[in-house]
Amino acid sequence: MMVPEPLSVMQVSVLGAGTMGHGIAQVAAMAGHEVTMRDIEAAYVDDGLDAIESNLRGGVDRDKVTPDEMAATLDRLSGTTSLEAAVTDADLVVEAVPEDMELKRETVAEVESLVDDDAVIASNTSSLSVTEILSALERPGRGLGLHFFNPVHIMGLVEVVVAEQTSESTLAFATEFVEGIDKTAVEVGDSPGFASSRLGVALGVEAMRMVQEGVASPADIDTAMELGYNHPMGPLELGDAVGLDVRLDILEYLREELGERFRPPQILKRKVRAGKLGKKTGEGFYVWEDGEIVGASEDVMDR
Ligand code: NAD
Repeated sequence: MMVPEPLSVMQVSVLGAGTMGHGIAQVAAMAGHEVTMRDIEAAYVDDGLDAIESNLRGGVDRDKVTPDEMAATLDRLSGTTSLEAAVTDADLVVEAVPEDMELKRETVAEVESLVDDDAVIASNTSSLSVTEILSALERPGRGLGLHFFNPVHIMGLVEVVVAEQTSESTLAFATEFVEGIDKTAVEVGDSPGFASSRLGVALGVEAMRMVQEGVASPADIDTAMELGYNHPMGPLELGDAVGLDVRLDILEYLREELGERFRPPQILKRKVRAGKLGKKTGEGFYVWEDGEIVGASEDVMDR
């Protein structure tokens, strides 16, 4: 974990303290920004703050972060359940609420009613139309997509998604923010799945079909991509890490927008219906314990 020098200190508000929200809050605070993280229940806010502390402690243990940097980062972070407290005075609001168009539109519209005229509003959507989210705003030029990757404190990429309405100044501001938190920005148009999700999900969905057809086990498919193509993680492990429910939502959307090649396979639907969502519930294509794979999922129909 690098601790970059920020170009200027901003007031950053992150909405959602889940997988992505807490990661975004962490990297913004590490870069020196003042950060408020908001979720709808105090327990979720606490979980997010605990996750950040545990990530930072891991960084200290590996000599990537000094104890002073850890303390300073935690000092710059606060959590709340109040949207108003979270966004008032924010220069940048990043929403990382669940992948649901109506929820995101309501969220950004409510944010706009509370922030200053020059505040930038970003969505961390993985695949929804940023243009459609921003059309809920009165001044949509202030909005764009900032698509972070999981785990945020490790992954170096942010897709800067330019919507139909995004103004030049919003794009410049957001690009400077991304570079200031030591990430690499790639600029992409607002097309379904952007650049990365579209390609990554295409690989993941084919891997699931291969398991379904009995071509190979999840572990062998993942090993093939890791060793044969130098991917750091195979597509099925990645699906488990991201969350199979998140994968299913994205696929359903891409199918609607781009066609049948993104049709979710039965095996994925079945796992989601059974609550086997991957790492976060302890089972998906693999069985997980304490964040590590400990075995194969024993689904009757996978064998
Ligand atoms: P998550 O379920 O882990 O977290 C979402 C959090 O938002 C939950 O804690 C929930 O309580 C909270 N929430 C719900 N309504 C809220 C509101 N009105 N205000 C504030 N918080 C609210 O989900 P996630 O994986 O962090 O995904 C969040 C967003 O990031 C989604 O749009 C997703 O597509 C996107 N994304 C996810 C990944 C990933 O790998 N998980 C990667 C990139 C982008």
